[in-house]
Formats: sequence, C-alpha cells, structure tokens
Amino acid sequence: MKKLLVFGIILTLIFGAFMVTVVTAKPTVGYKKHLEKITFIHYKRGFAKPTCNNNGVCEPELGEKKNCADCKNGGEETSNCYGFISRGFKWKTTEDFYINPANPDGLSSAFIKNIMIVATDEWNKYTTFNIFGSAILDNSAGWGEYNEKNEISFGDYPQTGVIAVTNIWGYFSGPPGQREILEYDIMFDTDFTWGDATVINMTMDLQNIAVHEFGHGAGMDDLYTTSCSLETMYGYSTEGETIKRDLHTGDIIGIQKLYA
Ligand SMILES: [Zn+2]
Repeated sequence: MKKLLVFGIILTLIFGAFMVTVVTAKPTVGYKKHLEKITFIHYKRGFAKPTCNNNGVCEPELGEKKNCADCKNGGEETSNCYGFISRGFKWKTTEDFYINPANPDGLSSAFIKNIMIVATDEWNKYTTFNIFGSAILDNSAGWGEYNEKNEISFGDYPQTGVIAVTNIWGYFSGPPGQREILEYDIMFDTDFTWGDATVINMTMDLQNIAVHEFGHGAGMDDLYTTSCSLETMYGYSTEGETIKRDLHTGDIIGIQKLYA
C-alpha cells in the first residue's frame, strides 16, 4: 500500500513535471494570427484638374475633403506618394495566379493573359523578390471567395460605376514581421468596355487598371491626394487613361521599401 502511494506520488510528480514542460514549451507568441480581408472598390471619377470652391474644398472629387492647398498642387510630383495596406503586409512566397478570360467584349485569352503578365512584370521588375508568379488560364477562376488561389476574372459588380474590385486576404495586424498576404482576387467590372485604350481611345484600358489592381495584390494602398495623381496607385481612373501602366516615382519607392 505504502509502495503504491510512493509510486502514485512519483507518477504525479512526473506527470506534473511533464505538464509544466508542455506549458512552458508552448510558443510565447502574444498575438494569435487570424485571417482578415480587405476590399478595394474603384469607382469611375473624372480626373479633371480640381478647382477650389467657395467653401474652401477641392472639387469635383466628391467625398474627398480636400483643402485648397491640395488643389493648387494638383498633378505635382512628390516622393511621398505611396502607402501600404499595413506595414510589413506582403508576400513571403511567390504564387501563380489564375485568369478566367471569359468577357463580353470579345477580348482573346492570349490578349488578356499577355496583359496580366505585363502588369505583374511592371511590379516584379523593381524588386529582387518575385512578387507575382506565372499567369495560368483557368475557366473556373472566380472572385470573392477565399480558396488559396489568386484569381482574375470579369464580372458584373452590383453597384454601377465600379471599374474593378480587388479582395485581399491575409494577416494584416499583429507584429509586422508576422504579417503576410495569402490571396488576392481581382474582378474587372463588365459595366465598362475593356480593351487597349491606345488603339480604341474611349475603352477602359485593361493594362492600366490591371497594374493598379495588382498593386493592391502586392500590398500597396490607394492614394487620394491630388498631388499623387501621376502614381499608378492613385485611386481614380476613367476610360482612355493609360498613365497607370508604368509605375511612377512613389510607386517604385513604395514597392522597393515593402520588399526590401
Ligand atoms: Zn485601388
């Protein structure tokens, strides 16, 4: 009986010690990662040079509270024209992306695929890390669902005047070193006629908008300051615009800072 009691105590001690070991061996990460999602919706806006109204607010950019000092700087280049979705929120592995080429404008699969390659190369060429992988045609690619697959498609977004919508999933918060992009889905809204605006002037230029949307896919944020209107990440666009096809000063500084 006494022997059994001693054995029991020893067992308890061992088990107790084991339990303690397990507890202390647990990683002491204070932040629990959880999947988050952000959606960028791009409405069509005029990009006429804003003017100062009587209330001291810049027009015509509705919804934006701009003071007249911003108005006067319209189109001026600054080196601070970049923003991140959140600090350190970026790709840590290179992933391919899947394109559903179905579209109502009669654009060929080869044309669309080539544009997506050009658009992703425009970001990749400024960083040593390959942010975007290969383009793969895939008729099952959709939009809006987290499925660990980066998808590009054309579709009808319910609201009118929307040019494109991009969803991004990943770990946005917590220590910047632990943040990570996990997926992006881009949808070009079929409310507009898509094409090459250098060939047919008043079409919505697919390359122009694609470079901007992939910018979100890389972790870049929209810019709404008039003084940043030359940047690819400037939030407004319209038919015939092609200025976003090439990254501008702020876009380049930003992407190199994020993927340094
Ligand atoms: Zn945007």
